Amino acid sequence: MSGARKLRVAVLGSTGSIGLSTLDVLQRHGDRYEVFALTAHSNVARLREQCLAHRPQFAVVVDAAAAARLGAELLSAGSATRVLAGEAALSEIAAHEQVDAVMAAIVGAAGLRSSLAAAQAGKRIMLANKEALVMSGALFMQAVRDGGATLLPVDSEHNAVFQCLSGQGMTAGGARGPRTDVRRVLLTASGGPFLRTPASALLGVTPEQACAHPRWVMGRKISVDSATLMNKGLEQIEACLLFDLPPAQVEVVVHPQSIVHSLVEYIDGSMLAQLGNPDMRTPIAHALGWPERIVSGVESLDILRVARLDFEAPDAARFPCLGLARAAAEAGGTAPAVLNAANEVAVEAFLQRRLAFLEIPEVIERVLARHQTAPANSLEDVLNADDWARREAHAALTAAAGVCA
Ligand code: NAD
Ligand code: MG
Repeated sequence: MSGARKLRVAVLGSTGSIGLSTLDVLQRHGDRYEVFALTAHSNVARLREQCLAHRPQFAVVVDAAAAARLGAELLSAGSATRVLAGEAALSEIAAHEQVDAVMAAIVGAAGLRSSLAAAQAGKRIMLANKEALVMSGALFMQAVRDGGATLLPVDSEHNAVFQCLSGQGMTAGGARGPRTDVRRVLLTASGGPFLRTPASALLGVTPEQACAHPRWVMGRKISVDSATLMNKGLEQIEACLLFDLPPAQVEVVVHPQSIVHSLVEYIDGSMLAQLGNPDMRTPIAHALGWPERIVSGVESLDILRVARLDFEAPDAARFPCLGLARAAAEAGGTAPAVLNAANEVAVEAFLQRRLAFLEIPEVIERVLARHQTAPANSLEDVLNADDWARREAHAALTAAAGVCA
């Protein structure tokens, strides 16, 4: 990298948990990277601090009034950062000709258009926003290939699998053609905060309990997904797409220590794993530096202190989201987009105390049962399925109303 110009990085969702970790890694490497753009949804105060510290050329705030306020504040603070408003500006920045790399760290379907724009524009995409990939599936992977983009997984499990596949024929941008040398991929799951909670006690759990993850500090939506295990379900779909594997070759194994981030088993019986402390700065630094390695700030793993690694099968009865996601993965087409949208609506309702924890899978199941899976051949097909599923999920919430008083 020495002598080369700095890589210009746009961090979409810079005020979130992945965004903060990304900026932490970037600021260790001022010689390699330049922060080109930062974006936020509602935490404008944090975005303002980030702009003053990292001096990006652009900042994007979705809400126009909030963007105008931020623009005025930055100007009076002597900052040269230009503030853009609106959702379309996210895609403009993702595809901006001066951007080399995009950290896609917006949560949920809100990140779909900008993540796709980065793919179509041929950027290096560091993908944390798994929902975008789950929704648009093969379309997303096609956009990566057509745009000549380089897709690097940031989700820790997929980053681990990518590392275990590297040098074994895996090409950035997704494997081309089904692999014949891989027997299976094992995605590890911490099990979330309710790993040992009996089914009867799950009924009354609160958003605070669901968001208190034992191993990772994350945004609220993914924290709830980790508690229901829907996160692992979405990750199974994500792995099938990234590594071109059928659902039957992607298994989930509970590993409470969160030290082994995932494993790949080859046909010769070799099993490769990637280990490390549970800190997202490792996969972020890997995606930023690939194919080189860069310092991340993550502490060395003390394997003597860890001492043992446990693995167990997930409990499909207590965590029905896993089975729902697996069914959507097998159905393909619009089913994953419907699963994702119904989940987003149900999780939001749970966080607002309008739905009980155990009703999250019930709402998703009801919506999926009413869905006629169709091919997802265009972005319009995906957005229509997303829209339909949101309406159905809201109707299902009304049906469930009152249980969570
Ligand atoms: P978060 O809630 O902490 O941050 C989300 C970011 O997205 C914020 O910057 C927010 O401003 C922005 N955002 C939210 N809604 C938006 C909208 N409508 N329009 C534009 N921007 C919007 O979430 P997070 O934990 O950082 O997760 C981000 C993504 O990374 C998710 O897809 C998540 O599944 C994935 N991920 C997170 C982790 C983790 O450890 N946090 C690990 C793996 C994958
Ligand atoms: Mg993950």
